Amino acid sequence: MQTLVIIPSLMHKYSFSAPLAWMFSDHVAQVRGIYSIDLNKAVVKAYDSFIVELGWFIELVEFDLIVRFIRKHNKKATILFGGLYAQLKYREIFANSPVDYFIKGDNEVPIKHYLDGVDPRAIPNMVGRDFENERRYVFQQEDYKSLEFNLDWFPDYFKYLAGAALPDDEMDLRFDEMPLFPRYLEKPGENLAPERRWRVPPRGGYHYLPMLLTARGECPIAHAGCEYCLGSRKELLCSIYGRRTLIMDNETLIYHLHKIEKKFSRASIVIGNKFDYDFRGHFFDLEVTIEADYFNRPEDIAKILPAFRQAKVHTTLYEDTLTCKKVRDAAEIAAFQALEDENHQVYFLAFGNDAEASAIPKQRQLHAEVILPHWTNYDFYDDRANALRKSREWYFLTGQTNLYPLPRRISTRLIRSIAFRVAYLLNKAKLIDLSKKVL
Ligand code: SF4
Repeated sequence: MQTLVIIPSLMHKYSFSAPLAWMFSDHVAQVRGIYSIDLNKAVVKAYDSFIVELGWFIELVEFDLIVRFIRKHNKKATILFGGLYAQLKYREIFANSPVDYFIKGDNEVPIKHYLDGVDPRAIPNMVGRDFENERRYVFQQEDYKSLEFNLDWFPDYFKYLAGAALPDDEMDLRFDEMPLFPRYLEKPGENLAPERRWRVPPRGGYHYLPMLLTARGECPIAHAGCEYCLGSRKELLCSIYGRRTLIMDNETLIYHLHKIEKKFSRASIVIGNKFDYDFRGHFFDLEVTIEADYFNRPEDIAKILPAFRQAKVHTTLYEDTLTCKKVRDAAEIAAFQALEDENHQVYFLAFGNDAEASAIPKQRQLHAEVILPHWTNYDFYDDRANALRKSREWYFLTGQTNLYPLPRRISTRLIRSIAFRVAYLLNKAKLIDLSKKVL
């Protein structure tokens, strides 16, 4: 069955959930992907089967608008939803949005059956409005090697990326001006001044797709200080997936990188487990962004960085991840910097005061505040009222109105324009602090 996959446009510019880059590799001819900014009546009428992503809670309002828009313009539509936030809240979502199906836990095999037209009631892990099948499919360690990366079904990703403004190491965020310019979805080719590129990574490159995630399931390195993070909810995540975390080993990671370089020129890697990787003796013709989330030393990074044509590593200013904040000493930062050359760089996630007091050069500092505002705390967004409120604010900030009827489109644009200007003036007069309100 021909299926349209719709990605909310709200998250970081031109991104979507990493698993989608391998989920449809067997069905690229019958799946097409679009961002929700491009959803319109004609597109909705052209399909009867839809998959809508709900990866994170700030997409909640946009997700609901998407499924209601589909329902309104295509009475025959069948809607399956998925994503990490959806895994946590699928019962709430069934209760509040007009959706039909959901796959709980791992979904590589169930999604294949679904696209092959198998009756959803016969598919393991499948949930419908009036049934919930047993979770009989569980991803296994040996399945890692079977992943095939294919984005042919979603050409818009490359189309938009080609016209997107690039991060700029020299750029300094100007929080006081950004609320007037929240145009991270600026049109392809439009080159906004760097300091106005809200939600475009200021520096450190994009997290390109395909993205290799080295850990699946609960966070294997959760420790004191991680309580705010969903990854630390081990029991909850184990109960969702029916297994403990799975970690991609060095050999499998190398195997996939060689496979990816044959088809793609860019990729990213997120290392969310104990650092145990060594690419010496290999060369990958790829431009990569590597997020090294846990405990790493310069000698660890030296084993992977030179293996790529171009690479940007994101580590932290802290020895023991962002949550513990034991600042690395100047000698260690110098050792990281000694790994750099024209094509290989190391960036440090750091909080403002620590960054200023440290030896990291300004153009290598990544702002930790921007990625860890208070509302990324699991306790905050676990509450549906909080999740809805924050996601509504965010959707309003994007300026997207294509899912509204015409009168609401006009009024939203008007209100938004006035609200931004008033907020800007109040912020300038220091009567409010917009950076705290928006982030
Ligand atoms: S904060 Fe990082 S290390 Fe801690 S649980 Fe979350 S992902 Fe894991």
